Amino acid sequence: MSKHIKLFIPGPTEVSKKTLEAFASPMIGHRSKEFQALYLEVQPALQQLFYTQRPVFFSTSSAWGVMEGALRNLAQKKVLCCMNGAFSDKWFDVAVRSGKEAEKLQYPWGTPVDPTELKNRLKSGDFDALTVIHNETSTGMMNPIFEIAEVMREFPEVSFIVDCVSSFSVLKIPFDELGIDVMLTGTQKALALPPGGALFAVSQRAMAKAEKTPARGYYFDFLEFQKNHEKAMTPSTPSISLFYALKSKLAEILNEGVENRYQRHLTMAQMTREWAQKRGFELFPKKGFESISLSCVKNNLQIDIPRLIQLLKNRFSVTIDGGYGSIKGKTFRISHMGDETPETIGRLLENIDECLEEIQKS
Ligand SMILES: *Cc1c(COP(=O)(O)O)cnc(C)c1O
Repeated sequence: MSKHIKLFIPGPTEVSKKTLEAFASPMIGHRSKEFQALYLEVQPALQQLFYTQRPVFFSTSSAWGVMEGALRNLAQKKVLCCMNGAFSDKWFDVAVRSGKEAEKLQYPWGTPVDPTELKNRLKSGDFDALTVIHNETSTGMMNPIFEIAEVMREFPEVSFIVDCVSSFSVLKIPFDELGIDVMLTGTQKALALPPGGALFAVSQRAMAKAEKTPARGYYFDFLEFQKNHEKAMTPSTPSISLFYALKSKLAEILNEGVENRYQRHLTMAQMTREWAQKRGFELFPKKGFESISLSCVKNNLQIDIPRLIQLLKNRFSVTIDGGYGSIKGKTFRISHMGDETPETIGRLLENIDECLEEIQKS
């Protein structure tokens, strides 16, 4: 096997040996008592992290499965898509491809959703679903989810669908308190688990609405998840391996302490932002909306990013990301979510410094 390059990219994130060992546990039947026990065992910690009394469902799919599924379950009239980065832009496309009527609330990449403008758009009464990405991983920007939730309170008929794929467990996102209808995340970002799973919660009113939505399909039918949840099971054969890994990870999170985990992520974000600014870089997102999960740094110093990434791989066996989609080469991204610590991020930043020096010399 070739030498492992440690991932500091914003997904998949580096998976620890301990998690990989849990992932490699022997199989059990997914309709067995053992599986039911495993399913029930992870519920309380998941509900704690979602800040909800509602069930937390597990889908064996990447996050996009549930992102598409939420629309198929809840969009009956028209979807309004908040757009300001690669993932949120794509969600509009996914809505249209699913045969849903959709409109854009479009901002330039890195610019957050304006709650007042959102309110004015919703006042038209045309919409019954809203998609918003809390943490736009492509631009390293966090939307003001609390302010958006405040607006959504005035529009209870509009299903409030929130992607927390790269912010879940990085900071407190209280599902019940914010009145969110669907909140979803993936396994391979801040949870530092292997890819292939998505976790989501659905409000009571959204569940009632789904019952009346035609053509929900089967694989992502929320009613199927609810029905099977009542038996501590999933609709189809789940990634049992991911359940083992999740159980191991949740124990780690509770052992660290949820508040300590949030603080650790904030410390790493602050370190990375300070480092960037000290080196003369600017951050890509609008000031005040920088992500806590990752830092998207503007390449205002015109450095050769592919060369930087190659040097980091060769010298230090680590890798960062060279920018996503239309801002590839114009930005680079450093992930500081998951199992990273101020120590590992500090070392990474030193490694980057050494490589930058080398690039400047030549
Ligand atoms: C990674 C990511 C996704 C897509 O996740 P998949 O697991 O590849 O489906 C969606 N939204 C955000 C914000 C992401 O970071």
